[in-house]
Formats: sequence, structure tokens, C-alpha cells
Amino acid sequence: MNYICETCGSLFDIKSNVWKCNCGGLLRLEYKKKPLDFNSTALSRNHSLWKYINALPFDEKDPWNEVTMGEGGTPLILVEPHLYAKADYYMPTLSFKDRGAVVVIAMAKKWGVKKVVVDSSGNAGTSISAYSARAGMECEVFVPSSTSDKKLKQIEAHGATIHKIQGSREDTAEAAIHKVESEHLFYASHIYNPLFWEGTKTYFYEAFEQLDGNMPEAFVVPVGNGTLLMGAYIAFQEMVAWGVIDKMPKILAVQAENCAPIVNAFARGEKTVEPCRNIGTIAEGIAIAAPARGREIMEAIQKTNGDIIGVSEEKILDARQKLASKGIYVEITSAANYAGYLDYVKKYPELKNKNIVLPLCGAGIKT
Ligand SMILES: *Cc1c(COP(=O)(O)O)cnc(C)c1O
Ligand SMILES: [Zn+2]
Repeated sequence: MNYICETCGSLFDIKSNVWKCNCGGLLRLEYKKKPLDFNSTALSRNHSLWKYINALPFDEKDPWNEVTMGEGGTPLILVEPHLYAKADYYMPTLSFKDRGAVVVIAMAKKWGVKKVVVDSSGNAGTSISAYSARAGMECEVFVPSSTSDKKLKQIEAHGATIHKIQGSREDTAEAAIHKVESEHLFYASHIYNPLFWEGTKTYFYEAFEQLDGNMPEAFVVPVGNGTLLMGAYIAFQEMVAWGVIDKMPKILAVQAENCAPIVNAFARGEKTVEPCRNIGTIAEGIAIAAPARGREIMEAIQKTNGDIIGVSEEKILDARQKLASKGIYVEITSAANYAGYLDYVKKYPELKNKNIVLPLCGAGIKT
């Protein structure tokens, strides 16, 4: 198993704490997977994402057993005819980030890593701090100084060291990277570490299985850094390669209008993404002005024949209320997904008669 630079193709041993190539290229993961037999995984007595271990970079004997808290296996809820919400807030730390965090930390444990570094303003930080506590590792979390008290308390409770950084989200990332490089530490980043996507891809395996072996027409996917979106693209490519599906479902991506670099790039028909100005949004979990994986995100949307939509602040709040009135309480960022769905079906009414899966990424009590 190796990291491979997506720019120059250089290979790096996965045990080295490399997070980026010398050429500046970002890393992907290269390893042998066994095709999944979804008829047999559907019958598994293991209801967590670990039932897909054949398509994960682990063996049965690896120490993932000591790290898992039963992540994955989240319900698919019928919200309205043809619209299924996959409730990933049913997770140990109440967001879908647990799918990625458990894979990253289980791998770190396998190599005997003692300390991890992460930067996040939200759910990734709480998730990595929870899983590293469980794995008995030290964890240093870099957060913007504006991070809410609630999230800091959660991170603190898991015993992680918190570094509050003045300035922008990018300044926080820079401080974390400085720490990683100066002390050669393991960077448990959901943006740079491709192991994270190996976890998020299982969301799409599960939805396929829950829809009785049928892919929906489309998956609505929120996009900040693209953690769930890249999981989608990897899962779809695998399933096509294994002959499980013959065409990829569409990725219908959603951003907040007030911070929408991918929407802008798509509108201009570009392959790469220019940073935008974040003019402030209540959907803080997707407010990423300069997504490091912008080019890959664009490719995933285009190759699935997908689309991207920007939603207004007003519509996000309205969507949160609409979901709550159906008994579903999500964090504000997560309501953007439903707002995006409502805008899509307004634009393309024929989508109302097709199965669509909507992610509920984070629990309402988080905000
Ligand atoms: C992390 C997160 C997102 C967006 O994920 P990206 O990796 O930034 O695309 C969306 N919603 C919630 C609740 C999140 O925690
Ligand atoms: Zn390179």
C-alpha cells in the first residue's frame, strides 16, 4: 500500500508521515482491493462499515477492532416520495466524519503512531479527537480562535491539546502543517489524508444496499473540502469496475451561495477552482473559500454528469425548519443539503419522480 502523488506519480511508503509530495502534488492511496459481494454484505451480522473490510485497506487481524465504535450502518429515512435521507448524524460523535476518522486513526494505530495533528473548525476535529482518545494516542487540534465553545468543550473532554489560531481558516491550516513538518508528526487531515475517503465511501455502499441493490438517480452531496464527495466518486468508480453498477449516479453538489468557489468554477466551465471570498454563511461546515482538492471535486461532478447549486442563507434556515417539522433536527450546515434538493427539483421537476439520497451529516444539537 502506497501514497501516490497525483501530479508526478511519485510513490511514498504509507508508514512515512508524508502528507504532500515534494513537487507540491497532493496524495492518493494505492492498494489492492477485493470486489465486494453486496449480496453477502447485506446479510452480515456486522452492521458497521467494517463489514466492507475487503474494500478497505485493512485485514481482519489489524487493530481496527480496538478503535471502532460501530460507525456506519445509518438509517435511510423516507422524507417524501422518492427522497431518502441517510441519517449520518446517528454516529458516535454525531457527524459523518466518524466514517473517515475511524479509518485514519485505525491505520495510525496499526503503524504505532503515538501522536496525531489535525486542524478543523468543527466536526472533523471532534471526531479525530474522540477516535485518537479511544486509540490511546495524543492529539493536537488546531482551531480558528472563533470556534464555538461547545465544540472546544467536546475536544477538550477527549483530552486533546487545543491550539487557538488568530486569523483565517487558512492560517489555522498553516499552523497545523508547520507542527506536522517541524516534528514529523502524523497529519490526520480530512483534506490531505486520502485514507479519510476510504471511510466516507462506505456511505454509498450502504445506500446502494439499503435501496435493495439499486443506485438512486442522484446523491445530493454538500461540498466544502469534498470529504463526502470524494468518497462518492471513489465508491462509484469501484462499483463500476467491479461490474456492480453500469453507470455512476449523479453527484448533485451543494454549496452556500455566500462561499461558493466550486459553483463559480462550474459556471465558468473551468477544470480548476479559484479561491473565492467568503462573505459569511451560517453553513459554517461547508464555508471553504479555497478547497485544496478543487480540481478533483470538479472532475467528480463532471464525470458523474452531475451539477452544483448554491443556496441562500434564507433557504438554508427555511430548510432546517422544514426538516424539523418532519421530526428531523440537523445542524444548520446540514440543512443546506435539503435546501439544495428543493432548488434542484424546482429547476428540474422530473427529478421528483426519481430516487434521490440526501445526507443528514450532523446532528441539530451541534449548533
Ligand atoms: C464536514 C462537513 C460537511 C462538508 O464536508 P467537506 O469535507 O468540507 O466537503 C458538511 N456537513 C457537515 C455537517 C460536516 O461536518
Ligand atoms: Zn509529485
